[in-house]
Amino acid sequence: MTHWKPTTCMRCAVGCGQHQRGVDQGYGVDKVRGDYDHPATAGLSCERGIRETENPDGEWLTEPLIRRGDTLRPTSWEQALGVVAAEFIQAIADDPDSVAVLGSGQQTNEAAYALGKVARGGIGTRHFDANTTLCMASAVRAYYDAFGSDAPPPTYDDIPEAETHVVWGANPAVAHPVLYRWILDSAADADSRLVVVDPVESETAADADQYVAPDPGTDLELARALLARLVGTDRIDRAFVDAYTEGYDELVDSLPDAASAAETAGVSMATVDALADAFADPTLLYWGMGVNQSTNGTDAARMLVNLCLATGNLGPGTGPFSLTGQANSMGARVVSSKETWPGQRPFTDQEHRATVASTWGVPLSRLPASSGPGPVGIVDQINRGNVDVCWTVATNPVAGMPDATNVERSLDDVFLVAQDAFRSETVEHADVVLPAATWGETEGTTMNMERRVSRVTAVSDTVDAVRQDLDIIAALGNRIDEDLFDEPPLDPETVFDEIRSLTEGTVADCSGITYDRLDAELAVRWPAPDEETQGGYRYYEGSESGSTDEGESWSFPTDSGRACFSAATYRGLPEPTDATYPLLLTTGRRAGAYNTGVRTRETASEVPTARIHPETAGQYIDLLDRGRTVVESRRARVTVDLAPDDSVPTGAIWMDVHNPAVNDLTVPAVDPDSNEPNYKQCAVRLASPDAGPTVTQNGLPRTGTLDGD
Ligand code: SF4
Repeated sequence: MTHWKPTTCMRCAVGCGQHQRGVDQGYGVDKVRGDYDHPATAGLSCERGIRETENPDGEWLTEPLIRRGDTLRPTSWEQALGVVAAEFIQAIADDPDSVAVLGSGQQTNEAAYALGKVARGGIGTRHFDANTTLCMASAVRAYYDAFGSDAPPPTYDDIPEAETHVVWGANPAVAHPVLYRWILDSAADADSRLVVVDPVESETAADADQYVAPDPGTDLELARALLARLVGTDRIDRAFVDAYTEGYDELVDSLPDAASAAETAGVSMATVDALADAFADPTLLYWGMGVNQSTNGTDAARMLVNLCLATGNLGPGTGPFSLTGQANSMGARVVSSKETWPGQRPFTDQEHRATVASTWGVPLSRLPASSGPGPVGIVDQINRGNVDVCWTVATNPVAGMPDATNVERSLDDVFLVAQDAFRSETVEHADVVLPAATWGETEGTTMNMERRVSRVTAVSDTVDAVRQDLDIIAALGNRIDEDLFDEPPLDPETVFDEIRSLTEGTVADCSGITYDRLDAELAVRWPAPDEETQGGYRYYEGSESGSTDEGESWSFPTDSGRACFSAATYRGLPEPTDATYPLLLTTGRRAGAYNTGVRTRETASEVPTARIHPETAGQYIDLLDRGRTVVESRRARVTVDLAPDDSVPTGAIWMDVHNPAVNDLTVPAVDPDSNEPNYKQCAVRLASPDAGPTVTQNGLPRTGTLDGD
């Protein structure tokens, strides 16, 4: 048994501090418990975070594998890396963009940084992205446009200070249990309240003092109705707007009539008025995938930020606070060179590009000119024959991307390298599999949703043939460019020091965060330009909240130094219902599960459950066989167990995102500004289970693409 050792939960981006110890004999984590000394979470942890760390359900990968015909066979590391490097080098000689790399918000900062260094600086491909684009990109784009920098302005310290908590398109009761407890505690105070906006009456909505149910996919219109009403009833904080913002008049000119926007959103003006009242108090506005995962997602997120700016809800105890899912989504954004260079350095800025190239010791000309088309765009490039090799690291696109059947076919057309700790749908399609260490076996750092960096630590060795993510990436990187890294095994602290140096002086300055400091303080928020200070509420330099009292000051890293309003118009759903596909499929999380369910699925072939309003279900009784039916979209057919549930709106079907079959159904349309997919709505119909073969990711026969009627 190892000693208890501090670490951070890598399950979700709340980033709970934990203690863990290794098993007595063999490999793995024996026990995990909350760390009472942690400055943010003070001993709290949720059941899911503990269980998935102690005893994940997934099937472990224990040795490198190589494809021989239809089967994956064990091989040596030397052969696996040799084969992969040869494929990479051949493809790069043809065109660096013919290599695609897909990373993850589940990697440590050190591994994410190293992967970006290989992708951008070693290979030189524009086709590098991470699964964080699938969940946070719309919020990220909105933050950049409003504030000139990514990441929410508030921190966890602001939650007890808020009087109104508006949770919009998110279900933290299921997705972020520890953070939700803080929200509930604060909302329970006298004069405080919880307001929930969600088409589905979720577990969070069930706790709300006020619940608003817009039509699915109309968040942008509801927000515009709210803004129009706030303007029309003179409830704007003009002092704040005049002193610290720009673009307000253009926003007002673009707003629709409040009543018509409310009608589009399917809510009454009385509801709009009640929701508008919420912003009179110090308000924290949280949002999640219900807003982001839409072709209107960036505009909707911008409009939520507008709501905070217009009502002066920016400052301690208030503000826009996007809820991040994956544990290190923030770190992947700050350090991995995905959309910006480390430290949020602008991708096309020549000076920053030169700094990065010089730090990496690679030719400036090798860095790709653009940050690429996003994960769905990369699949499109594969389909166009422009990508020959794809390397996935700690991500499962065959199950996790929209229109997954198409993704599966696309990845079968390239040389696929899957690096992961567990077998997944993507691993099953790989040509080479590289087994990597996971939680409890890895040293490094992570970054939670409030910008706090903390250590993740190892309490168990890996089995002999499993290697650290960082070392696998470095070994491949050095085969492409021998000077990219030192000889593995790498020291994660040395890699983190390289990250620190590249963030020095940037908006996301982590230069004052050292391993020694993290060992002493456990978690430190950026920006931290020196070893004594750490970040607090961003951009705010005054002492009073929510007003323009004398002595306050604000500083935004935008061109003008002011926060920026954005205007937008609603584009509708990318795939609305019609006579042929009359039902709307929406997706969400289920308690106790996460992501594509690799670590939480009880069985790989579990039939998904589809929740449906009893009234809607009653219209399809003849298509049910012992509670089972088939959900069809234009892309696939999936057999489901139908569960009547009046928390789902009429005319809709709700399925959880953790079953890999779900994304066979979803539509691959993306937001034009963020490249984030529209996971939350697509048109479907029900069909009899007798109507033909079903489609799942798990071995049942596929029917191919259904191209509508
Ligand atoms: S709330 Fe998130 S970070 Fe905290 S223990 Fe649960 S899963 Fe882990």
